[in-house]
Amino acid sequence: MASFLRTLSLLVLALASSACANLNFYSDEDLEPLSAQAYEEATKEHGVVPSGKDYEMVQEVARRIAMAADEDFHWEARLLKADDVPNAFCLPNGRIAIYTGILPLTKNPDGLAVVMGHEVAHAVLRHGGKRMTQGLLTGAGLAAIEAGLGIAEMNNEAKNGVMAALGMGAEVTLTLPFSRGHESEADELGLRYAIRAGYNPNEAPLLWERMAQLGGSGTPEWLSTHPSSERRAAELRAMIPRLQEEEKNWKPKAKKAP
Ligand SMILES: [Zn+2]
Repeated sequence: MASFLRTLSLLVLALASSACANLNFYSDEDLEPLSAQAYEEATKEHGVVPSGKDYEMVQEVARRIAMAADEDFHWEARLLKADDVPNAFCLPNGRIAIYTGILPLTKNPDGLAVVMGHEVAHAVLRHGGKRMTQGLLTGAGLAAIEAGLGIAEMNNEAKNGVMAALGMGAEVTLTLPFSRGHESEADELGLRYAIRAGYNPNEAPLLWERMAQLGGSGTPEWLSTHPSSERRAAELRAMIPRLQEEEKNWKPKAKKAP
């Protein structure tokens, strides 16, 4: 029995190690209802901006980034009314949210394309399911999913855990950070998407430098756990020429007939 327990704990340790950051026990189908419900929760909490210049910009950038990502997702983009929340996310299966509070930082469509590309890359790389697999989700969240509960039926702890694991609040409020490895993957793939979609990738390092200046008195938590914005800006700057070269002949796949 003792040796069985030891074997079991070794197995758990192995599963928890960073080497397993790419293990994913959750299928797209598993995550679909949670993604749909989390999107409605966020919408209910903040309300949407239904029209206007910023709304149009979000729709246009989302359409072009979605085409660049070339995934058969249920694409949708909402601009959420939250001037004090500098955040954005893309839930599994392509549900994008941009908070009005991030627009002063993204500044222009190129900056928005960089942020959206990054968030969409997290979804395409299935980082939500991988984080749930890594056990980063709270026990309450896991238990609720096992029990087949919908988000509306979960208690607050479980609900927040699931929504954070799926990618909400990951960049700025950061209740649950993506790992450094996942961040680097999303930075590179997201920048590819922005390039494919015809946006200016040179906005990426500038955007992260603006994010760094967001620090000061009310330093957002992500600054303490994320790679330094200066380092991130330098890494992005260094990869731009290679990505532009690799993506210069990129063409969207022919869409299936409806
Ligand atoms: Zn990220």
